[in-house]
Amino acid sequence: MAVWYFGKPRIPLTGLVLSFAALLVPVGTTFWFPESAVDYELLLWLLALVPAFLLAYYRGWTGVAIALLAGMVVLAIVQVIVLLLDVPTNWVFLLCVVAAYISIALCVGLVSEMLHQERARAERLALLDDLTEIPNRRLADLFLEKEFAAAQRGRALAVVLFDLDSFKEYNDSHGHAAGDEALRTFVRVLNSRSRRMDLSARYGGEEFIAILSGGDITAAVDFAESVRKALGKELNGQPAFTVSAGIAEYDPAMASAQDLILAADQALYRAKDEGRDRVQTHVSERPTP
Ligand code: GH3
Ligand code: MG
Ligand code: MG
Repeated sequence: MAVWYFGKPRIPLTGLVLSFAALLVPVGTTFWFPESAVDYELLLWLLALVPAFLLAYYRGWTGVAIALLAGMVVLAIVQVIVLLLDVPTNWVFLLCVVAAYISIALCVGLVSEMLHQERARAERLALLDDLTEIPNRRLADLFLEKEFAAAQRGRALAVVLFDLDSFKEYNDSHGHAAGDEALRTFVRVLNSRSRRMDLSARYGGEEFIAILSGGDITAAVDFAESVRKALGKELNGQPAFTVSAGIAEYDPAMASAQDLILAADQALYRAKDEGRDRVQTHVSERPTP
């Protein structure tokens, strides 16, 4: 059961009761038993950190929670040593304790920040292609599913599948590094011609997809032709290569996004068959009424 909604996740009742009890102990002891509180003052007031720790814990602020916990443990150990060895507590001693606390908090914060950056990097890698740094197939499929649903509600949708021509031969003749550079060049051209609302992604080794949100077949042909023609001008001294493209637009007879991809793939196959370095559109097999 939860009584206090504090964003996500909820802070459970037990957390609130523990926080209240943790605050009550030092406050109550100091007021009602001031003589016995003197010896254990630091230990008692450490409990005042418990509500902050529980808040950080339930809110998922792992770094803050660990820093508070580590600080509490260190301060508790210091206090026990002070009591057992009867060490005099002067300002130098207290300064050292505070410095230790701050150092621990900074170290934990640093580790937490590194973990956070590592997770952000992993998330980025999961959706972006390593070589070309554009979205990968997973992100393209997610985007396409969403666009396909919108197309079923009436918005136009077209996809273009690009496949670099005779790329195996290109690698064999110029080397794999030149092949990689050619892929990056193609992506530069693709990006320079994509609209912000579209998604261009690496769909396979030397295959790319452009999902034209709200685009019809005419817009898709213009786009694919402009990419194909621009390719020759953007080579910067690299060995030349060409691209073929297959285009399909949403058709109500299509049951899923995969049908749309299949239609574009058939058009691409025809472009290859007819000699490469060209753009082909999918021809619907439905009889015209
Ligand atoms: P087609 O015109 O029919 O598409 O012929 P192709 O040679 O392009 O097609 P094929 O599928 O036979 O070969 C694809 C080649 O793309 C083979 C593979 O080595 C190359 N390739 C795939 N991914 C990469 C990559 O990341 N870097 C490089 N350099 N080459 C790649
Ligand atoms: Mg291919
Ligand atoms: Mg190819």
